[in-house]
Amino acid sequence: MKKTLSIIKPDGTSNNLIGSIIKKFEENNLKIIGLKMIKISKEEAGKFYTIHKEKPFFDSLTDFISEGTIVPMVIYGKDAISKVREIMGETDPRKALKNTIRYEYAESIDRNVVHGSDSEESADFEISFFFSEIEID
Ligand code: UDP
Ligand code: MG
Repeated sequence: MKKTLSIIKPDGTSNNLIGSIIKKFEENNLKIIGLKMIKISKEEAGKFYTIHKEKPFFDSLTDFISEGTIVPMVIYGKDAISKVREIMGETDPRKALKNTIRYEYAESIDRNVVHGSDSEESADFEISFFFSEIEID
C-alpha cells in the first residue's frame, strides 16, 4: 500500500470538477486520506515545481497553479502512485485514454486539471509540502 499526492488544479476547481475528479479516484478503490482547499502564491508554486525550474513552461505553469483555488489531496491504496497517474491520463489530454480525468475534462497540455506524483520520492516531498502529520488519516 502506498500514498501519493494529487492536486485538483485551478481549472478543475473553477469548472466545478472537484466532485467528479474525487469520484474517479474513489471508484477505483483509492482512499482520500488528506484533503484541503487553498490558494498558493507563484513563489510557492515555484517551490512545489522546483524540478521543472529549467523547463520552458515553468513560468506559465507557476502562473497557472497560483491563479486560483487548488485542492491538494493525499491518496492511499494499492500501487497508488501509478494508479493515480493511470486514472489521470497522459499530460497532453489529446493523448489521454478514454475515461481518464484528462481525456474527459482537460482542455490542453498546460491546463490539464490534475497533478499526480510520479515516484515515491516525489510523493514524499509533495505530501509533506502540503500536509502535516495530523492532517493525514
Ligand atoms: N506543462 C505545460 N507544458 C508542457 C508540459 C507540461 O504547461 O509542455 C505543465 C502541465 O500542467 C503539466 C505540468 O507542467 O501537468 C508538469 O509537467 P509534467 O511533465 O510533470 O506532467 P505531469 O506529470 O503533470 O503529467
Ligand atoms: Mg509530473
